[in-house]
Amino acid sequence: MCSRPPRIPTSCHFSDSSYFTTRLQNVWSSKGQQRGLTHFQPDKKGSSTPSKESPYLISQELIAPLPRPPFKFHLASFDLETRVSLDRIFNTFESISIYTDGSKRDDRTGCAFCVRENNISTSEWIAQLKPRNSVFQAELIATKEACTWASQSNQPFKICTDSKTSLHSISSLKTNSPLAQHIQSILLNFPNIKLGYIKAHVGYAGNEAADLLAKKASSERIPTQYPAPKSFLKKKLHAISTQLWQNEWDNGETGRNFHLKLLKVKTSPATCQRPEIMLATGQGPFPIYFKRFDLRTTECCSCGELGTPLHFATSCRLASSYHFTKPSSDLEHLWWKRVLNDTLSRIQIRKLINFMLKNEDNLFPPN
Ligand SMILES: [Zn+2]
Repeated sequence: MCSRPPRIPTSCHFSDSSYFTTRLQNVWSSKGQQRGLTHFQPDKKGSSTPSKESPYLISQELIAPLPRPPFKFHLASFDLETRVSLDRIFNTFESISIYTDGSKRDDRTGCAFCVRENNISTSEWIAQLKPRNSVFQAELIATKEACTWASQSNQPFKICTDSKTSLHSISSLKTNSPLAQHIQSILLNFPNIKLGYIKAHVGYAGNEAADLLAKKASSERIPTQYPAPKSFLKKKLHAISTQLWQNEWDNGETGRNFHLKLLKVKTSPATCQRPEIMLATGQGPFPIYFKRFDLRTTECCSCGELGTPLHFATSCRLASSYHFTKPSSDLEHLWWKRVLNDTLSRIQIRKLINFMLKNEDNLFPPN
């Protein structure tokens, strides 16, 4: 009996490494240990030692928990409505402004902020992140560092960002991001800091400067370690599960006939409907299938030939209206692949199976 895989709890956060560790151990204990493996590693086709390229390898560094703020905010003390401006454009001509930005291009991630006084940059900060880090993380890291920088003075500061997503996260009491929570704790402790939204690339010199700095950071070697986001871990686990599934499908003992027609496993819904699956698996209204279960005394069609799916689809004179071109035996798997992936061919298969179900008495010899 199959047991359902554990659901990802809705409150699970990527810093809660226990869930992912447990999930990895489940995959490992159910598949890896059975095959006598000692690490997460490819078992048949890959190398015998773990490497950074291995799709089965997830380093502990990726799931290391992030430091969280020491307290949870009470609803009454969560007063950020006047501190985080989401909709209106910030007035950038008052006091000192800090512009933040994150950048991700071709697996290069970086973030930066610059302090602007009288339209001149007086201070800058940049950091390169790992390719696994998201642009959302980059935006929040830049904002967090800008807040930390501003919290060292009592002067009023306005921090401008072009990321509405990060501002939404910071202004929400329900955010699960430890970075956003960290920024919230700074804002609540330092009333001299305000956050605001500005449109990107519409002529704000500070925004353009921060954008250039973030792009520069993404290509310069200033390594900053930061745990991967939950989406990255989910993608990695999906790749591991799919690889294990593919190995089982390639090396299994059952369903070999269908394996030639469907080589790659995938989690996206199949385009095939029931009639196509009947024809491809042979588990449908075919004499050869009924004979296996003693529902018919003969494996033959009424025309005298063996009643296989391919016979009815390509050569049976009783179903000639629904025929496909007959493939040569060495190209049969390519023929199946083409037929099952073609919309018009799938419609024709449905018509053929429908015809066979309705005319069973004429197509099959009487028992
Ligand atoms: Zn026939």
